[in-house]
Amino acid sequence: MSSSKPKKNPSTSRITPGADRRISSGNGNGSSPPRKQPATSKTQEATPEKPAEAVVPAKRRSMYENVMSQFNKAADLMRLDGNIRKILAKTENEISVNFPVKMNDGQVEMFTGYRVQHNDALGPFKGGLRFHPGVDRDEVRALAAWMTWKSAIVQIPFGGAKGGIQMDPSNYSPAELERITRRFTFALGSNIGPEYDIPAPDVNTNAQIMAWIQDTYLSTVPPTERQRNIHVVTGKPVVSGGSLGRDKATGQGIVFTIVEWAKDRGVSLEGLTFMVQGFGNVGSWAARLLVDLGAKLVAVEDVSGAIRNMDGIDPKHLSDYAQSHSGIRKYPDADRIDHIMLLKTQADVFIPAALENQITQETAPWLKVRLVAEGANGPTTPEGDAILQERKIDLIPDILCNSGGVTVSYFEWLQNKRNEVWELEEVDAKLRKKITGAYRRIRDVASDLETDWRTAAYVVALSRLETVYKERGIFP
Ligand code: GLU
Repeated sequence: MSSSKPKKNPSTSRITPGADRRISSGNGNGSSPPRKQPATSKTQEATPEKPAEAVVPAKRRSMYENVMSQFNKAADLMRLDGNIRKILAKTENEISVNFPVKMNDGQVEMFTGYRVQHNDALGPFKGGLRFHPGVDRDEVRALAAWMTWKSAIVQIPFGGAKGGIQMDPSNYSPAELERITRRFTFALGSNIGPEYDIPAPDVNTNAQIMAWIQDTYLSTVPPTERQRNIHVVTGKPVVSGGSLGRDKATGQGIVFTIVEWAKDRGVSLEGLTFMVQGFGNVGSWAARLLVDLGAKLVAVEDVSGAIRNMDGIDPKHLSDYAQSHSGIRKYPDADRIDHIMLLKTQADVFIPAALENQITQETAPWLKVRLVAEGANGPTTPEGDAILQERKIDLIPDILCNSGGVTVSYFEWLQNKRNEVWELEEVDAKLRKKITGAYRRIRDVASDLETDWRTAAYVVALSRLETVYKERGIFP
């Protein structure tokens, strides 16, 4: 940030309700005594809020290396065609743009934004845009690849992409955020488009930001074409062409997968205890929907801190409290705990719904849960995965668990293309069908191949991609 005056705008958090997840973490090296973790969080599609204080670990592991380690394990197991393996191991296009924006004080600041397009064999590139200091090419590459697998798993006709701006949105006023968003959209130019690459909300971005992108993009097309291009983004406000149910979609999808798991395991949802890391859009919706089914929320962590009450926490009340008190930390109806106590809480289910690299060699041994349902993208490192498997803790992998967001994005895109408006019940029913179908495919592959669920999820995704490449061949 180049300009001199500190920028702090207390009203940023009003920008939009809703948020997804994000928590930042220790780097998972594992050996040392537990470091104090930034309690963090913010999930995708999040309301801009304050960042954690000590968040970015000194040395971050390469996220793309994590993706490749997951990918290679599945590719070996299923004997993925060697040529297709080469293609999928690389991203297709990587766009990075530096652009200037005038700040409220008249100074110009330069920003760096990215859009990485991993693969479009199954349909147009699709995936969110995040605004966060941790955004860099490696992270965006990893997130773009996860989008390719996610869309393949739920069988929607999209490829994978991701993008973002390396910035802390809580340092900017709403007017500055709007100018940054619009200038970024302009800089991306025809690298996005309704039939080519369709952004959506992600960490610290939301429906309002999608509306600014939509408006900027539409301003660059001839007036006669505008209406035909409104699906250039999804996750828009409903009146601007958004879908009912998109706001809660990621949380809803998580809950649908947990419901299936509970059925499979003969576990009752009534009284099922769970904890959530990240209380933005994803974490708070998942908590509310799960409590509606009779489950009990016992611990929560967000960017401000962590709390616990084994008698149960009311997620709706907590969400309202967090909006008006910049986080959950001082919530009066629960005890304040630290990050390590949170991870050591005894519960049936843990929903990491914040940042990546949370369940590591260091932290995985602490968990006292039966199931990890990954609301965040990439919350578990390969070392963390191995420990969960060894400890026989079930896992619903991110590329299945949080695929509800992109699934309802697809429904929104379809509604826009067809000039339709679907009822909420219709959206929910279609989402349930898609996500439970994917859950069962992965469960069956895991059992047939006697492998873990993440690897099974990759096998499901890669098989679909392998088929399409084999059908079409490689040009020329
Ligand atoms: N950002 C969300 C994700 O990681 C949603 C992407 C979309 O709707 O395109 O899945």
